[in-house]
Amino acid sequence: MHDNTYLPDHFLRHIAAIMPAHLAMEEFVASCRRPLRRSIRVNTLKISVSDFVAKMAPLGWQLDAVPWCDTGFWLTRADETVPLGNTAEHLSGLFYIQEASSMLPVTALFASDKIKTDGMLLDAAAAPGSKTTQIAALMNNQGMLVANEYSSSRLKVLSANIQRCGVTNVGLTHFDAKVFGQWLPETFDAILLDAPCSGEGTVRKDEDALRNWSLERIEEIAAVQAGLLESAFHALKPGGVLVYSTCTLSQQENQAICQSLLDKFGDALSFDSLASLFPGAEQACTAEGYLHVWPQIFDSEGFFVARLRKHHSVPNTMFKPGKLGKFPFSPLPAKEADPMAHDIAATFGVALQGQLFGRNDEIWCFPALFEQVQGKLRFDRIGFKLAETFKKGYRLTHEWALAHGDLATRGFVELDNTNAREFMMGRDVWPEQEAGAGEVIVRYQGHTLGMGKWVGSRVKNALPRELVRDTNLFAE
Ligand code: SAM
Repeated sequence: MHDNTYLPDHFLRHIAAIMPAHLAMEEFVASCRRPLRRSIRVNTLKISVSDFVAKMAPLGWQLDAVPWCDTGFWLTRADETVPLGNTAEHLSGLFYIQEASSMLPVTALFASDKIKTDGMLLDAAAAPGSKTTQIAALMNNQGMLVANEYSSSRLKVLSANIQRCGVTNVGLTHFDAKVFGQWLPETFDAILLDAPCSGEGTVRKDEDALRNWSLERIEEIAAVQAGLLESAFHALKPGGVLVYSTCTLSQQENQAICQSLLDKFGDALSFDSLASLFPGAEQACTAEGYLHVWPQIFDSEGFFVARLRKHHSVPNTMFKPGKLGKFPFSPLPAKEADPMAHDIAATFGVALQGQLFGRNDEIWCFPALFEQVQGKLRFDRIGFKLAETFKKGYRLTHEWALAHGDLATRGFVELDNTNAREFMMGRDVWPEQEAGAGEVIVRYQGHTLGMGKWVGSRVKNALPRELVRDTNLFAE
């Protein structure tokens, strides 16, 4: 029980006025004071759900299915000495720690019969990346996903999560998301707008979430949300599908924002009913077909999810192309790209997909659909960095290894538990196997930790410094 959870009276009065008749305020308050159940989402870019469940059962992990996400589970661990984020499986991107109700928006997006998983998608407010990585997994790294985040510090975390999870089809941008309707009208097949909000649904993980709560603040945020949704709607192709979600409860930030779009664009859109999204969804469904998840319904965080379809174009008075700097990349000529792809296939048994581009001494692999947005948007990073070149050749990157290393059929070394811990602490290791030569993928229990280089019988550690962990690492 979180007795210190701050639930001011004026907030409770505001909530009591909008609480549906079939729900009780006492249960709302009690659930706000109850700690959240831990939940994770299996990253199917790296491991199937059945293999993950089988792998973790002997370690005493009890995984209870989240009914609205095939890859989501509530987790109870027999031994909690090692923080979840420091387990080997987390470090190699096999799962993402994500609150169960936060899995709903992406489920709603992909349940639409209008979704085009190999198309051009936008995650307009993306950091820290729980939904970006969820979307990329459902796209199976095909097509292209533009993941945008306004805050610089959160953009870094987003980038790290994308790399850890082996996501390769993302272009990262750093804008106020209201630019998408101006710069990229009718560009995206599907859009998630998981909007910035007042966070009323998050008190179970942050007992001070409501410290600065006020109606004035809600009105201010609602104005931002309405602008973001209108812009996202312009960026959506006719025939496309858009999910608007928040982790807050006030109608001003939820139902009213959806209504403002209907008021503005009338029959150009309609909202789908989400009442049958999963068994039990009707308990959270509003008259309009939105999911308004009160924390006591599914014993989760509070959430709001609405899904719309765009039926036809609307006049766009916003359109104004953005100013772009010079694009610093150029396509890698075939005479350089082909031998490299051949070399990687011969050494590791892994095929290169996507298009190779060069910038100074870096070689990048861009998503196949990148050309559709090239010259229209400035990106912070596109796809993944494949290699760094130097006089006598090139060095494959950590992010290439995390995305492709599990698929390698040769050119890898499998470490035992002690060596794997040493490796993650940034140290060189001496594996009990015949020494190889050159670059090597370093794996533990079949999953990639990073890159190394054979020097005699030693594997020289090439883990990026910022990923080195020195305490409380996964168990011996
Ligand atoms: N979708 C994320 C996830 O699942 O991990 C959570 C997104 S959080 C609800 C909203 C994000 O929007 C925050 O990271 C915030 O920094 C960002 N943000 C705030 N204002 C924004 C704006 N005008 N344009 C784009 N992003 C914005």
